[in-house]
Amino acid sequence: MFKGLLTTLKEWTGKPVTIQYPEEKRPVRTRFKGRHVLKRYENGLEKCIGCSLCAAACPADAIFVEAAENTDDERYSPGERYARVYEINMLRCIFCGFCEDACPTEAIVLGDNYELSFTDRHQSIYTKEMLLEPVPEGGKPTPQQTPPGVYVRAVPAMKDPED
Ligand code: SF4
Ligand code: SF4
Repeated sequence: MFKGLLTTLKEWTGKPVTIQYPEEKRPVRTRFKGRHVLKRYENGLEKCIGCSLCAAACPADAIFVEAAENTDDERYSPGERYARVYEINMLRCIFCGFCEDACPTEAIVLGDNYELSFTDRHQSIYTKEMLLEPVPEGGKPTPQQTPPGVYVRAVPAMKDPED
């Protein structure tokens, strides 16, 4: 009994662990799988090349990709194609990360955002515009006008992933 009282007293006098969410947010773990983000290169071009490998890998059939052709006058991504339509149905997603693993350009990643809420089924479909990250500093929005013959590889030379 004495031991129990001592534990209660210790917890009572210790620092409170309550976090004032949503004003204060606890950082997530490094391997946390949250809401997806479509990444860009530093110059602003989109990493997604519309190959649909993520959709093929998805066990919940939550991803829809429709590809279209790039041109040098209207370029969204390196190489031939880009995702004209990219949608994820968050009601279906089980946050397994298979899409992330399947992507050859590391375009789709599961980020640290866990604040998903919707009041009807249509709102649960996240479109490309919602998923695409902002243009990085020094980059340009897409579509870009690019010099001919520069972007000829769908998957640019990249170093091996580190994790
Ligand atoms: S995390 Fe899994 S279930 Fe969700 S979209 Fe990716 S592959 Fe599909
Ligand atoms: S996110 Fe990756 S796997 Fe999915 S269509 Fe784009 S490039 Fe292909």
